[in-house]
Amino acid sequence: MTLDLDRFRSDLETERARLAAAIDTVNHKGSQAEETGDLASGPGDHLGDHATEMFMRELDEGLEENAEHLIEEIDAALERIENGTYGTCAVCGRPIAEERLEALPYAKLCIDDARKLARS
Ligand SMILES: [Zn+2]
Repeated sequence: MTLDLDRFRSDLETERARLAAAIDTVNHKGSQAEETGDLASGPGDHLGDHATEMFMRELDEGLEENAEHLIEEIDAALERIENGTYGTCAVCGRPIAEERLEALPYAKLCIDDARKLARS
């Protein structure tokens, strides 16, 4: 099987950066609120603040933990690209379908084993 590893690697790195930025935003919530408080003066700022607040609340509800977990999965997938095992099921050793990797670039199980695992 010939997978476009460069493309999957860049997809994984993009997603990782996005998640890291989201975690960073949550972790620095306090200090950032103070900083933007000093800078915010225009009447249009209220809407933006509200949207940010909503976003933060969503992140607070377990998403941060989820993002950290995903980053671990992504790191593991990047490692598999480096050592040449990317796209191979960790349970049965068969190739993971490319469509599955497209949808879930950090998948480490083929669809059959992922379903079995979800059932057990
Ligand atoms: Zn499998």
